[in-house]
Amino acid sequence: MKKSQVEELKVIFGEKDVLTEIEDMVAYSYDASHVEIQPEAVVFASTTEQISQLMKFAYRENVAVTPRGQGSGLSGGSIPLKKGIVLCMDKMKKIIDFDPANRLITVEAGLTTSDIDPIAVDANLFYPPDPGSVTFSTIGGNVAENAGGLRGLKYGVTKDYVKMMKVVLPQGDIVTLGNKCVKHVAGFNMEGIFVGSEGLLGIMTEVTLALLPIPEHRESALAIFNSLDGAAQAVSDIIAAGVTPSTMEFMDNATINAIQNFKDCNLPRDAAAVLLIETDGEKNSSIADMGKVEQQVKKNDIREFARAKTTKERDSLFEGRRVALNALASVKPNLILEDATVMRSKLPEMVQGITNIAAKHDIQVGIFGHAGDGNLHPTFLIDMGDREEMIRTEKAVVELFQLAIDLEGTISGEHGIGLEKKPFLKDQIGAEGIALLQNIKKTFDPKNLLNPGKMFDMPEEFTA
Ligand SMILES: Cc1cc2nc3c(=O)[nH]c(=O)nc-3n(C[C@H](O)[C@H](O)[C@H](O)COP(=O)(O)OP(=O)(O)OC[C@H]3O[C@@H](n4cnc5c(N)ncnc54)[C@H](O)[C@@H]3O)c2cc1C
Repeated sequence: MKKSQVEELKVIFGEKDVLTEIEDMVAYSYDASHVEIQPEAVVFASTTEQISQLMKFAYRENVAVTPRGQGSGLSGGSIPLKKGIVLCMDKMKKIIDFDPANRLITVEAGLTTSDIDPIAVDANLFYPPDPGSVTFSTIGGNVAENAGGLRGLKYGVTKDYVKMMKVVLPQGDIVTLGNKCVKHVAGFNMEGIFVGSEGLLGIMTEVTLALLPIPEHRESALAIFNSLDGAAQAVSDIIAAGVTPSTMEFMDNATINAIQNFKDCNLPRDAAAVLLIETDGEKNSSIADMGKVEQQVKKNDIREFARAKTTKERDSLFEGRRVALNALASVKPNLILEDATVMRSKLPEMVQGITNIAAKHDIQVGIFGHAGDGNLHPTFLIDMGDREEMIRTEKAVVELFQLAIDLEGTISGEHGIGLEKKPFLKDQIGAEGIALLQNIKKTFDPKNLLNPGKMFDMPEEFTA
């Protein structure tokens, strides 16, 4: 980057909020995926106006800009593929307005997701989307990836809570999209197009989110199975029986043992799989719902149905699930975690298919995830230094995505496409689907300068 350009960035952001030394920028060159690319500059925004000035500068100077929340993304979304500038949002953490009467909260996009509940609890409200990364991911990153979480089965995902947002468009214009009303149909659903846009269409700087009343009561249980198939079938049966638990998380034997080696969470090392299940709501109905769950799981290959009797027991079970990814990461030097998702009725086929693929290619796999949503995280445990194992893993990943598509599922339930799944998007949405996305991108960002090279490639003439 030219000296004069760096000087201009320092005028916009201030001297200390612009980094250009390689050693200072290392932390902004990777996320939780596998790619690492050094940017030419990193800037820390404090206001929407600064971001608007940045985009006007980028458009005049033809410099790529990549928005970044906390870099916890698992698909490479915040990697500066075309170098240029990484725009960090983590100084924009203010709560702008808490409106309990309308059950709304407006926050800056760099706020950490778990910082909402301590404010909302004063009015007996909570923010339902709770990705496993809730304590470090940002609201902007959650909206950009349409993040899901452990409560997605009953409460839905980020898109179900986004009401309004302030966005800086790629050429620097500032727009407010959506509305705080319960109903709003004035114009296209423009806030909707930004949910899951992976930082390609604009930079969200403020977001208004809906909140819900905290349920009166929660019942938690661990269902312990003798077979993978029993656990997968139980999920399908519970849904078919008309019960909607708030959480239904799946962990297979490899994941259970990785967790126990990482941290003792009282999980049974010899189980083929477990389901961590929670029902919530009014006290009597959540207890009755857990009774119905128990009836359904007992029809399958179950060894034990253990209800958590104390908050400590419940917390320990949930802690196990929350550390699952870190625990699997400690098994081998590297892992490839996917989020292929199918309809709940297809879970038994999906689990069996993943197991077959891993066995066929002789790769260690741990399977965990939001089974109640049909969203599994098959996690290949590998050593990227082992070329031969990498070749087998690449084949396994291709077969895994094909399996999800064949079962009418999706290649990504929540982590987005980014760089990691870009080669597979066409298989999911077809050439016409890609052309539509390219045209939308062209309309918002005619020079292809905002997070270029993610999700899909643009035709040559639009490449920065
Ligand atoms: C241990 C672990 C557990 C996880 N569990 C879950 C889970 O349960 N469910 C789930 O869905 N995901 C999960 N994730 C993935 C990840 O945390 C989410 O995708 C999260 O939403 C990313 O937030 P972030 O702030 O880190 O965003 P980043 O990774 O920094 O960015 C993600 C994308 O959003 C864009 N972006 C960021 N901020 C903005 C903004 N303000 N405006 C426009 N674009 C922006 C970036 O350009 C990038 O494309 C997990 C990750 C880890 C490491």
